[in-house]
Amino acid sequence: MNGMQQLVALQGLDDDIRKLEATKKQLKQKAADAASASQHAHDDLDAGTAAVTNARKEMDKREGDLKVFEDQINKLSTQLNTIKTNKEYSAIQGEILNAKQEMSKVEDDILRLMEEVDARQSESGDLKAKVEAADADVVKKKQAITDAIEDADARIERITGERKAMADEIGPKFLEPYDRLRKGKAGLSALAACRNFVCQGCRMSLTANTVNLLMSGKDIIYCHSCQRILYIPTDEDHQDGQGAGRS
Ligand SMILES: [Zn+2]
Repeated sequence: MNGMQQLVALQGLDDDIRKLEATKKQLKQKAADAASASQHAHDDLDAGTAAVTNARKEMDKREGDLKVFEDQINKLSTQLNTIKTNKEYSAIQGEILNAKQEMSKVEDDILRLMEEVDARQSESGDLKAKVEAADADVVKKKQAITDAIEDADARIERITGERKAMADEIGPKFLEPYDRLRKGKAGLSALAACRNFVCQGCRMSLTANTVNLLMSGKDIIYCHSCQRILYIPTDEDHQDGQGAGRS
């Protein structure tokens, strides 16, 4: 392999590492999504449980109110027996009527709250089922994701070792421009194939002079349009690189 062929192989390794890093990122996101779904389910269940408790408390309070009115009505009814005048009698009957009307409102409230407690409880049952499903999903995914990340890490380590060995072999003349360019392109392709006088990175035509320099293989040759490092692909190279200039 000449320097350029080695760079092409190096870029293959760099691409593999980049893909594995992207895979790891996706896996971590998947784990985070499952954890977040589980957290949401737990929050919803907590809110549902609090709603049941609140409705029950409100119901207890209204039942207390009911007791107050009952006592009041009993007291007033007892008083009726000791009343001497019609006027007093009508006044107390009026009070009893008022208390009964208030009681009736409280009873309506209690019925409504009983229905609410039932509905909230059934809602909580659904929320509990959702929590169980979300937690099971976290457990199921966790092991698979951990295994897949470990696998990706092992492959990255192996390829990084291969990359280092290859980089040491290539030497700075070819390696430094490549590394610089790749860094500038945020890890994306620093190399572009030259086919039929066309740069495959940007699809712009290359001059005969550029292709000639490229075929000599001595120096790094850049595309004038996209600034990528040009190379002659091996499938074009079987006739001493003649294919690169074939039209
Ligand atoms: Zn180009």
